[in-house]
Amino acid sequence: MTDVFNFCAGPAMLPKPVMERAQAEFLNWQGTGCSVMELSHRGSEFMALAAKAERDLRELMAIPDNYKVLFCHGGGRGQFSAVPLNLLPKGKSADYIVSGSWSRAAVEEAKKFGQINPIDVVVDVDGKQHVVDSQQWPLSNDAAYVHYCPNETVDGIEMFDIPNTRGIPLVADMSSMILSRQIDVSKFALIYAGAQKNIGPSGLTLVIVRDDLLGHQSAQTPVIMDYQTTAKYASMFNTPPTYAWYLASLVFEWLQALGGVSVIEQHNVDKAQLLYDYIDGSNFYQSKVSKVNRSRMNVPFYLPDDGLNDAFLQAAKSAGLLALKGHRSVGGMRASIYNAMPIEGVHALVAFMREFAARHQNQV
Ligand SMILES: *Cc1c(COP(=O)(O)O)cnc(C)c1O
Repeated sequence: MTDVFNFCAGPAMLPKPVMERAQAEFLNWQGTGCSVMELSHRGSEFMALAAKAERDLRELMAIPDNYKVLFCHGGGRGQFSAVPLNLLPKGKSADYIVSGSWSRAAVEEAKKFGQINPIDVVVDVDGKQHVVDSQQWPLSNDAAYVHYCPNETVDGIEMFDIPNTRGIPLVADMSSMILSRQIDVSKFALIYAGAQKNIGPSGLTLVIVRDDLLGHQSAQTPVIMDYQTTAKYASMFNTPPTYAWYLASLVFEWLQALGGVSVIEQHNVDKAQLLYDYIDGSNFYQSKVSKVNRSRMNVPFYLPDDGLNDAFLQAAKSAGLLALKGHRSVGGMRASIYNAMPIEGVHALVAFMREFAARHQNQV
């Protein structure tokens, strides 16, 4: 089989060196004679892996000592429930910034557990979706926390400035941008991310939480969603997703060997620029997001006529360019270009798009 480039939004492609290493170690991990997935999570070998993965992530993201790193179950959506269960006391409300599909879904789930104040921040500017400057967000003075999604995976809307919440704990769903660029963790009270976009396979969810936020969970919080218990048992109160944790540890090592987040950030800037520059310069494809809010990870784009979508997807697939269909809620196309996507994949996509446009220019 020839090489393909997989632009899936999630589960997404993993770095090739990571997959090759996992394959080589699959049946006999570190001389144990077992696959890593067959070992006890409480055995010394796995415990060492778990500790190393946490150390590596702490180093990659420069996570301060007063934050816990939790390796959880339940995905991003699991955290849509866990966040209010742990951080929203009775009688208080939380502000939820709505900038697209995922932040809207977070609101719907959180409403089950308390009073939620949704704040829409996307406006139309010259036909493009644009996020209102965070200085102008009408935040409440007494919210228990402010929740937002810095990168909307479906809509391709990213916010690059960290909002100033004037001391109110800031919670971020970083599922689709974690480790894609440098961020100052100390500006956040809690960060969470499903692994399957930029960290590893699905089944693992990272939570980075400041110490003082632990211990405020409501009495009904299911124990596997309870941050305090999860922290107390080093994410092993119940059996963690060990194989996903192992693959995440390989991804962290891969990132470190590349030179860390600052290096991958530059790759990501270059990849995104290549694609957006081509889209802007063509009179065939179109982006619907304002320039300052264009996601570096998820690039939705539209053909001049939806009637060409199927032909585009078919031809792309034949050219080895997979999973370019946009989310059903927004239509069009979407190229997800996470950390693992090499720039060669974006070059191949642009070359294909150029050729497809030339072939169909006269049909529109
Ligand atoms: C994918 C995604 C989710 C949902 O993750 P699951 O692991 O499927 O629950 C939530 N938020 C964002 C921003 C995502 O990209």
